[in-house]
Amino acid sequence: MWKRKHPTVLVAGAGPIGMTAAISLLRQGIDFEIVDKASGPCKHSKACMLSPETMEFLNDLGILDQVLAKSIRLHAVQLFDGGSRLANLSLGELPSPFPFIASIPQMDLEEILLECIEQSGKKIRWNHRIASVQRLQEGLCIEVDRIGKHMMGYAVMHEEKLVDATLQYFPKVLLAADGFHSLIRRLEKIEYEQVGEDFGSVLFEVRRNPREDHVLKLGFSNEGCSAYVPLPHGVGRFGFTSTYVEEFSADRDKSHPIYDEDLEKFPELSESHFNHMVEQRLPSQLGKIKEITWRASVPFGVRLSESIWNQGIFFLGDAARSGFPIGAKSLNLGLPEAGAVVTALTSYLETGDDTELVNVADDIRMEWEDLSSLVYFASDRFTQSKDNGVDPNIILQASPLTGKDLEYVANRLSQVMRIDFLVTN
Ligand SMILES: Cc1cc2nc3c(=O)[nH]c(=O)nc-3n(C[C@H](O)[C@H](O)[C@H](O)COP(=O)(O)OP(=O)(O)OC[C@H]3O[C@@H](n4cnc5c(N)ncnc54)[C@H](O)[C@@H]3O)c2cc1C
Repeated sequence: MWKRKHPTVLVAGAGPIGMTAAISLLRQGIDFEIVDKASGPCKHSKACMLSPETMEFLNDLGILDQVLAKSIRLHAVQLFDGGSRLANLSLGELPSPFPFIASIPQMDLEEILLECIEQSGKKIRWNHRIASVQRLQEGLCIEVDRIGKHMMGYAVMHEEKLVDATLQYFPKVLLAADGFHSLIRRLEKIEYEQVGEDFGSVLFEVRRNPREDHVLKLGFSNEGCSAYVPLPHGVGRFGFTSTYVEEFSADRDKSHPIYDEDLEKFPELSESHFNHMVEQRLPSQLGKIKEITWRASVPFGVRLSESIWNQGIFFLGDAARSGFPIGAKSLNLGLPEAGAVVTALTSYLETGDDTELVNVADDIRMEWEDLSSLVYFASDRFTQSKDNGVDPNIILQASPLTGKDLEYVANRLSQVMRIDFLVTN
């Protein structure tokens, strides 16, 4: 059974970037539909730090108050080189009305975005999976499968996901926010270019003493970067990068179980390995850790889509480029970009001239290329600069700052360290 639909814009993927694009479309009064193959928002902390520039954008979007109500504010970044403290960067002087980092689990941010969409009377179509993309003479035709759960079996009853119906969408524009493994990008045969080293990231969420902490701790050693992010309600998140990279699989998507407590396959998730890494890489006083509440091993690749805007399809968020998890850069660049794309879309829909969209796509590409040229984690380079301390480029990539705030910190670091690259807007 085919159902034909003609929204002006179809948003594919309701992760943080797709939902932010949806809210921007609501604000601009552009008619749209949004679909996601998962059954609801993500369930983990994932990218959990918002930069001052992201907060400025969320303020313009009218949702910063809700976000800050569920965040804690980090006022400083402490830098560690192996066992010793390198520096303390106070964020209070950043050139922003919000001179701090907001720490909020990604699941809470997604709940706020979802609530905002639903309050406007719009519904996200969960359990709707993009199946195909065709370019017809009259424009795009996107097939979307509606997935239902059905009880199956005779001897043993079990639940299976089956396609209930297929919907056909004929939008003027498709915003592809379907994540790192973007099916739309693959159907369009667009390369996802590698623009930096692949690496593994091991994440541990822990429950701590109730003592509130407002300092982000970043550690640098030959094994990689490490971060300790205090989260609301006495929870904290450790992230450790390593050169060990598992296979990139579909399990990276939130709709699949992540390698939770799969200790035989991932011994680096064991408690003894966790204790070892804290001791080696972030040995500062973190208070008593009561319990590890979530752990995951995630492969990351620094990637950039060969094409970002191409005849009716705009790639957004992790579908367009991905990497640098310690600094939550993908999220912090992706949220404001979603807004910029929708603003540019307005003039395209009115006039048919896509110059502004081309410019936004170029900006996204250039900013990511600038960031990628700061070496994120390359052990040989790190060893070379070891005598003079940590390579400042690595510090810039690991800090959850973007644009003018990153430039400000780069300038401060340049007073004490050698800097090869500066990122500018
Ligand atoms: C376990 C884990 C930990 C992470 N930790 C960090 C971290 O510490 N720091 C950091 O910066 N980043 C981290 N990330 C990455 C971060 O979550 C992403 O950068 C961010 O979510 C990007 O948002 P997005 O909306 O572009 O993509 P996503 O959040 O991936 O959303 C894409 C959406 O598209 C949907 N989708 C996919 N295919 C289809 C289809 N065919 N049809 C319909 N819908 C589809 C998915 O269900 C999903 O909801 C982590 C990711 C994972 C998985």
